Amino acid sequence: MNLHEYQAKELFRSAGMAVNPGEVAGTPEAVRTLAEGFGGRVVVKAQVHSGGRGKAGGVRLAGSPDEAAAHAAAILGMEISGLTVERVLVSPIEDIASEAYVGVLVDREGQCPLFMVSAEGGIDIEEVAATNPEAIHRLRVDPRYGLMPHQAYWLATRLFDDPRRARQAARVISQLYNAFVNSGASMAEINPLISTAGGEVKAIDAKVSIDDNELFRRPGVAELRDPGSESGADAQAREAGLSFVKLDGNVGCCVNGAGLAMATMDLVKYYGGEPANFLDIGGSSNPDKVVAAIEIITSDPSVEVILFNIFGGITRCDDVARGIVEATGRIDIDVPIVIRLTGTNEDLARTILADAGFAAGTSMDEVVQEAVRLAG
Ligand code: GDP
Ligand code: MN
Repeated sequence: MNLHEYQAKELFRSAGMAVNPGEVAGTPEAVRTLAEGFGGRVVVKAQVHSGGRGKAGGVRLAGSPDEAAAHAAAILGMEISGLTVERVLVSPIEDIASEAYVGVLVDREGQCPLFMVSAEGGIDIEEVAATNPEAIHRLRVDPRYGLMPHQAYWLATRLFDDPRRARQAARVISQLYNAFVNSGASMAEINPLISTAGGEVKAIDAKVSIDDNELFRRPGVAELRDPGSESGADAQAREAGLSFVKLDGNVGCCVNGAGLAMATMDLVKYYGGEPANFLDIGGSSNPDKVVAAIEIITSDPSVEVILFNIFGGITRCDDVARGIVEATGRIDIDVPIVIRLTGTNEDLARTILADAGFAAGTSMDEVVQEAVRLAG
């Protein structure tokens, strides 16, 4: 789950971090009022889950409340990376002396948090990585001890030569680490962390992604979700209690159990196909979940075939069969459905499916090959 900039900044502020002030608004009039309150010179920033808002015209500096309202009118409703801007963040303009980059993410290979910092901030870190990789400094954090003060200071001195600025940056880096850990984030980033001509260091942009698996124990973070900002399929899957990840292929997969879902995707690839999704209908016995799964899979226009792979344990095969029959009655499905099922109430399931004109195999190998063949 991604946070909006204003939400990420709120999180950072509650960790004590120096962050530039700002307020969100959804209309040009409200932006004008906020700009008046901030003294007229403000920056108006699109609040969408996308980087590169600056390049897309979603970050604009205004010299007066009227200009701020005009910028807001241009930005609100704008599409950035396919997302419609519904709110803007209004902040007083900062006089920037330098821009640095500070980020921390979960390094899966190192099994620990990894800091990346660069004195070349403001631009995409991917761009720095491609053109000037030695400008990026990395530090792995041992999660047992957390980020040590000397490590924070070492990172900070990669960004600023001036000790006064470096001390402030070290504080920001420690606060970023705390916010990252305490919110269950997989990534937290400040780009840019600016210094002003007066020698102040503060965050003027913020980006945070929360690990969805951390949300159940952090209701305060979970309620920051903006349903309007996620894809329809993601929202539908979450509501239906399905684990769903969209992928780039054309074999729609509907499987029970995460392990079997992974094995199914492996087998699809082994036989030369590409899965369109990971979808785990879970261990429950609920035909409605199957209907929701088919709706989600068929809403993806690249899907050429739907592959069911069900190992009936707690999940009863007859319930899945009922779900398939119900879904095909309720929605127009113009791609073939290939089914493998085995286990609890398998015979009953086959009868239900046969009555509706479906055949179901038992061999995972054969059925996956059939699905790959039909997907072309
Ligand atoms: P992003 O493009 O989505 O990453 O949005 P940012 O908030 O990082 O803004 C992009 C760029 O706009 C920054 O790197 C700055 O150069 C510039 N910018 C943003 N806010 C201010 C500000 O208050 N003052 C000045 N002078 N420039 C700003
Ligand atoms: Mn930025």
